Amino acid sequence: MKINQGFLNLKDRYLFSLVAQKVGEYRAQNPGKEVISLGIGDVTLPLAPVVVEAMQKAVAEMGRAETFRGYGEEQGYAFLRQAVCSYYARKGVELDASEVFIGDGAKSDLGNILDIFDQENTVLIQDPVYPAYVAANIMAGRRIHFLDGSVHNSFLPLPHRDLRADIVYLCSPNNPTGAVYTKEQLKIWVDWALAHDAVILFDSAYEAFIQDGELPTSIYQIDGAKRCAIEFCSLSKTAGFTGVRCGYTVVPHELIQGGVSLNELWLRRQSTKFNGVSYVTQRGAEAAFTPEGLEQNRTSILYYLENARLIAGALTELGIWFTGGSNAPYIWLQCPKDLSSWDFFTFLLDSCGIVGTPGVGFGRNGEGFFRFTAFASREDVRRALDRLRAMPL
Ligand code: PLP
Repeated sequence: MKINQGFLNLKDRYLFSLVAQKVGEYRAQNPGKEVISLGIGDVTLPLAPVVVEAMQKAVAEMGRAETFRGYGEEQGYAFLRQAVCSYYARKGVELDASEVFIGDGAKSDLGNILDIFDQENTVLIQDPVYPAYVAANIMAGRRIHFLDGSVHNSFLPLPHRDLRADIVYLCSPNNPTGAVYTKEQLKIWVDWALAHDAVILFDSAYEAFIQDGELPTSIYQIDGAKRCAIEFCSLSKTAGFTGVRCGYTVVPHELIQGGVSLNELWLRRQSTKFNGVSYVTQRGAEAAFTPEGLEQNRTSILYYLENARLIAGALTELGIWFTGGSNAPYIWLQCPKDLSSWDFFTFLLDSCGIVGTPGVGFGRNGEGFFRFTAFASREDVRRALDRLRAMPL
């Protein structure tokens, strides 16, 4: 018997549990001091009323023999897949409901999708980026190459002519940098993927934060993308579903590799290893896509974006370089005084009682950078910024 060696190759701790441990230690040593978190990558506003109402109604249905439901449809209920299609239609993207797979959030599918690809494939991952892609690929024992993000390319790396890879993870708006690819930049990626027979795994978990009408909110807004890309999205950040759990993955029928439909492979994989999201959750998600639901959730998104604007304003005043914060809930700043990410984390916690996330936790290129998020309450943001303005640097 041998265990999966990939697990031994993982870094010892997941970034956020390490941050939580350090904050716990600080609290234990400084019992009277209040800590404000701008590090949290989780939503804080409650579910939209229309979603709550839909879920309550669904619970009541489950309690009556005439309306009770057992296992749901394989890919998710048609009513929700249709609602996702209508949402895409508003973006100018035509999808068939059979191209949409309902899941329990983007994280699972972003890792599970690897099941349908050969072990020998080379995987390309942006650096810095959401750390779960790297960990899932290491666990699976895959070869990873990194795509360097830096101040020089505004943390939006592009392929060069000689770049070779089979699978590419792209995240836009990016976590942690808040950087968003333009249509022209995504077109370069799509053309590259088509020319090299590569598949793009496009994570659009934060698409609803994009306010600039010129920026793409789906890779399928780019010509040719249906032949080379799978898109992952989630209601976590767009509708406050981090605790409810619902997402969707789009695998277009046009996406064929080695003469095989990836849509059919993913259906086979999901129907074998996944038994769906609860009916109650799917009714709540459906409500989030109604005009009322979209409007109510937009109010929450605008609230977070206003937080981001306030944080960005304070950093500008302080002369600290940053990116993100206008079409994303993340603000990515350069640590002052050339401090390392963890040194700035400790300094900020000790001197201001503010928690953020060290950039190096998102990849080697994150060293010397730091992430603030906009998911706190307005009051906490204002108080944190007062402390930041008085930071003894
Ligand atoms: N993708 C990115 C870029 C994220 O930042 C997150 C969560 O923080 C996820 C996916 C996972 O989201 P979900 O809650 O849908 O699993």
